[in-house]
Amino acid sequence: MQLKVIGGGLAGSEAAWQAAELGIEVELYEMRPGRMTGAHKTDNLGELVCSNSLGSNLQNRASGLLKAELRRLGSLLIQCADASSLPAGGALAVDREAFSECIQAKLESHPKVKIIRQEVTEIPDGAAILATGPLTSPALSRAIIEFTGEEQLFFYDAIAPIVEYDSINMDAAYRANRYDKGETQDGDYINCPFNEGEYLAFWEALITAERISLRSFEQTINSGVDAGEGSYFQGCQPVEVIASRGEKALAFGPMRPVGLTNPRTGRWPFAVVQLRQDNLLGDAYNLVGFQTNLTFSEQERVFRMIPGLENAVFIRHGQMHRNAFLASPKLLDEGMAFRERPGLFVAGQLSGIEGYAGNIASGWIAGVNAARYLYGLPPVVLPITTMTGALMHYVTHADMKLFQPMKAIFGLMPKAEDGKRRSKTDRYDHYVQRALSDLDHFLLELDAS
Ligand SMILES: Cc1cc2nc3c(=O)[nH]c(=O)nc-3n(C[C@H](O)[C@H](O)[C@H](O)COP(=O)(O)OP(=O)(O)OC[C@H]3O[C@@H](n4cnc5c(N)ncnc54)[C@H](O)[C@@H]3O)c2cc1C
Repeated sequence: MQLKVIGGGLAGSEAAWQAAELGIEVELYEMRPGRMTGAHKTDNLGELVCSNSLGSNLQNRASGLLKAELRRLGSLLIQCADASSLPAGGALAVDREAFSECIQAKLESHPKVKIIRQEVTEIPDGAAILATGPLTSPALSRAIIEFTGEEQLFFYDAIAPIVEYDSINMDAAYRANRYDKGETQDGDYINCPFNEGEYLAFWEALITAERISLRSFEQTINSGVDAGEGSYFQGCQPVEVIASRGEKALAFGPMRPVGLTNPRTGRWPFAVVQLRQDNLLGDAYNLVGFQTNLTFSEQERVFRMIPGLENAVFIRHGQMHRNAFLASPKLLDEGMAFRERPGLFVAGQLSGIEGYAGNIASGWIAGVNAARYLYGLPPVVLPITTMTGALMHYVTHADMKLFQPMKAIFGLMPKAEDGKRRSKTDRYDHYVQRALSDLDHFLLELDAS
């Protein structure tokens, strides 16, 4: 029994592993390095294209609950993330190289997995998983559009720059975690503090700086299909777009200083840019929340106005990319297979899931269900009271008119059955306990069946 998994990103790698662990012969197709996307830099499987954080690790947060569930489900990628984690407050941030190397080593040494470095341009016959992500190659995008008879949907997403640690002026910047919450005593984040005058000058420079036009950006990444400008995903908006909403938009947004006491003044600065460690060596830091579409030369000019980054050396510039996702509520069933073609599954961002951990979860579901399909078993549909189940339910049932990529949020879960009024914290605690207990029961029953 054979399964083709197309795309060796987060979802495809998880899916390939889960199916192989269930005894299926898996061919994992990854087009890099022969054909690169506009965002990937390496030929590594499971490369993180932007932030090195997989989001909260705290169990009472939606994203933290998702990881707790994935640990119980035996996710390969969360195991690799835990093994390559870096200090980042309550978040699960990883050394991106170590993370990918772990995934690659595990898949390469699995006797049931064959990795094929080749672009797939047609929808495969037989059992398969499409996990080609937001930057699906143009040829396959066209094949998917033809197959579904639906235009794919698009939004625009952006990457934050990374700078060399040695180029940060620590006489101006300081280490601190917001309200001192974090793993290390001296602070996981480097903070670049602004006074009001510095902030206003920076804001002015940012909103007037030259941006890369969408058309030339589209040409650079060879996108298969055109889409109108102005549709950014809420959670990943370019910093200059946020800034253009008003003078204080950044100070109340990605540059908010609350809880970040500057040890030199004993006070919170007017505004702050936070830098987060990007690799294990600690020699690279990303500008948190500073996804951008400014031209590279303008990024250097404007971001060197940030106190502490006057001489910053840019290891990677920010960039903006088109993201593609399917009309999943119309096309997919709850097991993540096409309703019209059982045996053909979708996983990852292409299904409309947002966020690294959510995409890993969809890879788990598609991998397990593709294996079950080949064994003639019904698909696994996790309870909607679990974060994984709620996410899969959302992408396969949402109102098409409002459908946008969705990350793990408690709002996707059903209310408490007992109807009791609870504070937000108690409500979330209740959701977490219910999710983990329902998942444990579900897995016990699955084992028994
Ligand atoms: C610019 C940008 C910034 C982002 N920033 C973040 C972020 O900070 N945090 C976050 O949670 N999410 C972010 N995302 C979303 C992120 O892409 C997903 O969370 C995650 O990577 C999706 O996993 P995936 O497996 O669906 O896709 P990917 O991880 O992109 O994997 C898809 C794989 O398929 C391969 N492929 C594509 N077409 C073909 C083909 N025809 N044949 C063979 N292989 C193919 C690609 O090379 C790639 O390796 C960002 C996305 C983009 C584009």
